[in-house]
Amino acid sequence: MSAQPPRVIRLIQRPNSFGVGVFAIITTKTTQYYVFKEIDCAIGGRGFAIHRLGLGDLYHARIGSPMECSCECLGFLRHGKCKHIQGLSALLGHSLL
Ligand SMILES: [Zn+2]
Repeated sequence: MSAQPPRVIRLIQRPNSFGVGVFAIITTKTTQYYVFKEIDCAIGGRGFAIHRLGLGDLYHARIGSPMECSCECLGFLRHGKCKHIQGLSALLGHSLL
């Protein structure tokens, strides 16, 4: 069993004509909103810039096969996985992006 609280990702706004969308990562304690935009990615997978609303953090994440996934956040650097990749992967898996 994971010690992590259950986490739900919800697509709030599909990417608009500028390619900018919003998703939320919801836990029992908090809801965090993220603005995201798909960016060119020449090295495999799909690239996204993710900006957490209310804070200055900007991350670039890459989603694809397990070897193609990467993110700039501390969670990924430490553990090789993070909520950004898990969240975007879930949306991609449901063909929402
Ligand atoms: Zn991340």
